Amino acid sequence: MSVSLQLPVQCALCGSVFDGTTQITVCTQCGGLLDAVIDTTQRLTPESFDAPRYTLESLSGVWRYRQLLPQIADEHIVSRREGNTPLYWHDAIATYAGMNPGQLGVKHEGHNPTGSFKDRGMTVAVSHAKSVGASVIACASTGNTSASLASYAATAGIPAMVLIPDGKISMSKLSQTLAFGAKVVQVAGDFDAALQLLREVTEEFDVYLANSVNPFRPEGQKTIVLEILEELGWNIPDIIALPGGNLGNTAAFGKALVEAHAVGLINKLPRVVTVQAEGASPFYNYFQSGFDHYEPMVPHTIASAINIGAPASVDRARRTIQNTNGIVARVTDEELLDAKAVIDAAGIGCEPASATTVAGVRQLVAAGEIAPDAQVVCVLTGNVLKDTDNIVKYHLDDVDGAPRARANRPIRIDATMDAMKKVLDDAILG
Ligand SMILES: *Cc1c(COP(=O)(O)O)cnc(C)c1O
Ligand SMILES: [Zn+2]
Repeated sequence: MSVSLQLPVQCALCGSVFDGTTQITVCTQCGGLLDAVIDTTQRLTPESFDAPRYTLESLSGVWRYRQLLPQIADEHIVSRREGNTPLYWHDAIATYAGMNPGQLGVKHEGHNPTGSFKDRGMTVAVSHAKSVGASVIACASTGNTSASLASYAATAGIPAMVLIPDGKISMSKLSQTLAFGAKVVQVAGDFDAALQLLREVTEEFDVYLANSVNPFRPEGQKTIVLEILEELGWNIPDIIALPGGNLGNTAAFGKALVEAHAVGLINKLPRVVTVQAEGASPFYNYFQSGFDHYEPMVPHTIASAINIGAPASVDRARRTIQNTNGIVARVTDEELLDAKAVIDAAGIGCEPASATTVAGVRQLVAAGEIAPDAQVVCVLTGNVLKDTDNIVKYHLDDVDGAPRARANRPIRIDATMDAMKKVLDDAILG
């Protein structure tokens, strides 16, 4: 690696190194995706991340880990104080998953400024975009990336354009994106078609691509893992579970762990468990074949954030599973909705895609692949308000003529004390 480059990026397939101080998203030698090169010859300790209060490094749960991020100058950094999200330990969720009480934590990335972990990646990508003087920033998105990009681009004062699969994203995510002022282009087709179109656009026009194929996005997302480890006192959990869609996050988690290990912060790696929805599970099938046979699929799941059939980061995600002795699981829409109802009723809440983690862990515990006394952290990737349509449907609609197991039906009454007394007797005190 040439250390003279200020922001080196390296091809994940052929190893070529490029200068990342310009806009570059694929290897010009072989077309492979690029990784930011981090200096792993440095030695870091937990104290390396101590920062005075009210500095960028203490206010942002991303920029606190600056030593492990691309070196972008202060004046270009666009931050909304992302990260610093809570890690909750809730016994009802642990018990549901078949774990012993106290053994299952949920890291709530829905507490980020726009309600998903995408903000962690976006602060780095938009800062990089600003540092290279980008005139327009664009992404294709199942919703959360567009909401995040719209917010960070507006913060930076750079125009944003987002391509969304028409009719396939939640109203909450679409409304955030419209409200934050991004130009929204609705593409007839699925996410994969929208991303393909955008990649062609960025080859011809001066448009900065902010999808996770951008090498700087996963860099910010690495800090989810660093923050979990820091909160555990740099003790290593047995399992970190996350949902898998386009697989940028799975790629980022593996990179974070390998780097944290290389600089001396941890002495072994937790296993990464990626959970897909059955209707969009090409990575699961690939894993089942011993990573021998890979085939994209036409995606169809209620969890719109992971409704992706041709994940862009499949190779980098495979590396994560291989490096961490990880597992890829898959759950049905009914399983993830059931897990979501439990997470929601615990007062924590998340969007459908996030609940695949708890559903997946539950399945792996039942199959004996995770011990009930292991320590597990599930990453809840998005906020409960990200998909209110599906919450209302879950609680009000019948399936096969019966309400779902955990449906919480509102009760309609006349405005009389008699009616109210009956409610108290039947449903609340009784
Ligand atoms: C983007 C997203 C995912 C999927 O992450 P990938 O990096 O695409 O695998 C999961 N959950 C939520 C809420 C998301 O926004
Ligand atoms: Zn290459």
